[in-house]
This record gives sequence, structure tokens and C-alpha cells, in this order.
Amino acid sequence: MKNDCVFCAIAAGEIPSFKIYEDDAVLAFLDINPFSLGHTLVIPKEHYPCLTETPDEVLSLILSRVKKVASHIEKTLPCDGFNILQNNGAAAGQTVGHIHFHIVPRMNGAQLSFESGKGDMEALKALAAKLHFEN
Ligand code: AMP
Ligand code: ZN
Repeated sequence: MKNDCVFCAIAAGEIPSFKIYEDDAVLAFLDINPFSLGHTLVIPKEHYPCLTETPDEVLSLILSRVKKVASHIEKTLPCDGFNILQNNGAAAGQTVGHIHFHIVPRMNGAQLSFESGKGDMEALKALAAKLHFEN
């Protein structure tokens, strides 16, 4: 695995993911330990460790894709809102050292714990098929 980075391996197709959107520079896939239904990660295909080490033009592109994917999730799932999370450094809870933005769908009145639940792989597969979209 290049750099020992799990998200580089996902971007290269070396390990599988529950992909919902892909273009030349960006990939979006379901988090395998979701905080809520449809919890999605958006990453650049190129490796940058964290926000402060990512070039502005790459950040700008990723954020435009975060918007696109979140908008699609809002239209496709029961979803009343969403949180965007982006952790930097172990102290902040970053566990994968490849910059990523979390999209966490929210429902009115539903309690949420920002602790990962264990994903059901069959359910994630079906959800990815439902959420998958092209440009
Ligand atoms: P963070 O704590 O911000 O670094 O978030 C990393 C996220 O990546 C966690 O929510 C993990 O559940 C998720 N994750 C780790 N490995 C994978 C994987 N192979 N596929 C999908 N999500 C993953
Ligand atoms: Zn990487």
C-alpha cells in the first residue's frame, strides 16, 4: 500500500470502498463506521495530510464536491440537515492522515453520538448503490 495510507489505497482502487461519487480529483464514499445513515467521506485522490498542508486550490475543489455530494444526499435520503466535520491531528480525533471531510446527515429530533457505530456491510452496500451518482 502506497504510503501505508488507507485512503490512498481506496483512491487507487487497491482496496474496496462504498463509493458514491468520483471524478478526476475527488472521491466520496461511505464511512464504514457511520455516525448516522449516509455518513460520507470526501477526499482528494492526491495525498495531503491535513487542512494546513493542502493547497488552497485543492481545498476549493474538495469543498465544491462536498457541496455537490451533500446536496445529492439531502435529495436522496430522509435528511433534514447535515454536519461537515474535518479533524486535524490526533488531538482533534484525526485517525486517518489523508485529508477528508465528513458529511453527517441529520434528522430532526434524532440524537447523534459523534462516536462511530459499527457499520453493517450489507446495509452500506445497498446504501451506496442508492446514493451513487455521476456528474
Ligand atoms: P477521522 O477520525 O476524521 O480521521 O475519520 C476517519 C474516518 O475514516 C473514520 O470515521 C473511520 O470510520 C473511517 N474509515 C477508516 N477506514 C475506512 C475505510 N476503509 N472505508 C471507509 N471509511 C473508513
Ligand atoms: Zn493518502
